[in-house]
Amino acid sequence: MIPFAATPEEILQELATLRAADAPTHGGKVLSYVYDSGLSAVDELAAAAMLAVQPLNGLDPTTFTSIAVMEREVIGFMRTLLGGGGDVVGTVTSGGTESCMLAVKTARENFRGTGTPRLLAPASVHAAFHKAAHYFGLTLELVPVDADGLADSAAMTAAMGPDTALVVASTPSYPHAVLDPVAEIAAAAQSRGIDCHVDACIGGLVLPFWPGLPDWDLRVSGVTSVSADLHKYGYAPKGASVLLTRGRDRQRSQYFATTSWPGYPVVNPTLLGSKSAAPLAGAWAIIKLLGTAGFADLAASCHRSTASLLGAVAKIEGLRVVGNPTGPLFAVAVDALVPADRQIDPHHWADRLKVHGFTAQLQPSFTQSDGSILPRTTHLTITPVTESRLAELVEAMVQAGKEVRGVPGIEPQQILAALDGPTAALLGTSGFTKNSETARQILRALGLAGDGLPAAMAPVLALVEALPRDVTEWLLTELLAGLVEPPPLPPAEM
Ligand SMILES: *Cc1c(COP(=O)(O)O)cnc(C)c1O
Repeated sequence: MIPFAATPEEILQELATLRAADAPTHGGKVLSYVYDSGLSAVDELAAAAMLAVQPLNGLDPTTFTSIAVMEREVIGFMRTLLGGGGDVVGTVTSGGTESCMLAVKTARENFRGTGTPRLLAPASVHAAFHKAAHYFGLTLELVPVDADGLADSAAMTAAMGPDTALVVASTPSYPHAVLDPVAEIAAAAQSRGIDCHVDACIGGLVLPFWPGLPDWDLRVSGVTSVSADLHKYGYAPKGASVLLTRGRDRQRSQYFATTSWPGYPVVNPTLLGSKSAAPLAGAWAIIKLLGTAGFADLAASCHRSTASLLGAVAKIEGLRVVGNPTGPLFAVAVDALVPADRQIDPHHWADRLKVHGFTAQLQPSFTQSDGSILPRTTHLTITPVTESRLAELVEAMVQAGKEVRGVPGIEPQQILAALDGPTAALLGTSGFTKNSETARQILRALGLAGDGLPAAMAPVLALVEALPRDVTEWLLTELLAGLVEPPPLPPAEM
């Protein structure tokens, strides 16, 4: 008998205690990160499917043949949904970031131009493309969007050159839910022989059912790949996304294969080696359960809720919806057209919304390469479960608005001025050493060194707006790295 260190009951009890401190994943209280269909049958089926494949290794679908069957069926479903023909092939990946990264990797492999390959996208493109350019050595060129987050297709076209390896459009963009002009961007790319990726990570399983949209998917001829996340509006457990690619030969360069080592022949369509089949099985089971009609119904619920929330924001004096969002997400900003004492800062508003039980996502203001500034916003992602608590959410939105109407937003300069002497001096000198100890000192001085998030996020976002990006990135890296550091070791024994 192996002497267990604790009983399974004790361990699960401990996990339950830890889980109780998590933000709620169900019930519509958290308006980002989680996508709740509101149907317990969906979650229960996915859990059972995940359990059924728990021991498998997705590394080798020739040994574990169920994986190939499930993946083939998921790709087939998505290909039909997104208007792909017989020349469209695909892969199930671990998430949107991996789908986007692989689309970029494929374009880099297929790049036949000269110089360092460039990745061209509107500034609203998801950070996953920044990551892809960083990992795969492409130059990222971001074309400024307008104040409502709209991509400029003429500027995009003008920026396409012989060194452009890939052009990206989003359907919709994450920050402001803008449907980029896919037809124009893809046509311009196609006529120059440039690949065009459509990032439908968030829209891929909901926009096919959204009324009144122009073609934006594989129905558009210049589109060479599309990413769509199963773990967003596919309601699947986290770790599942699809990348569809037009053309077998194009897609084959997504793969990495080697027989140049003494071990087993390696053939990886994705970034991982050994991998779980659980998210795939969960996603596959949900697709079988819901079918196209089920997804359509859930999308219709999202559409009704989003329409009524957009109407509710329009009635809150001092706030406005940014642009014309497409899909079940939107951003709100201050309405600068009303007098200052009637304006609502979206970050103070989000902090009050939280007190009323709903967690929305704060987005900092953003200075683009041409110097234009996108205002700070608060982002809300709407899922089917929202419909069951719409009245409550609207009430919270209205109340939160009343509580902070006329309260000025925190200016980045205010945050800098309030820093204590040593911290200000440190941040003011360009030459400070960016090591872990310095970062911790600064985080402590800013009150960000403890466990969990501060009660009010508006000051933290103002800090993000105030500090140079490289400094913020360095501090946030330290903050996150610190979360998973084991406690200090006891003094060494003699
Ligand atoms: C969520 C999202 C991604 C990244 O997906 P992850 O699953 O979080 O890795 C990429 N693009 C868009 C538009 C998204 O909404």
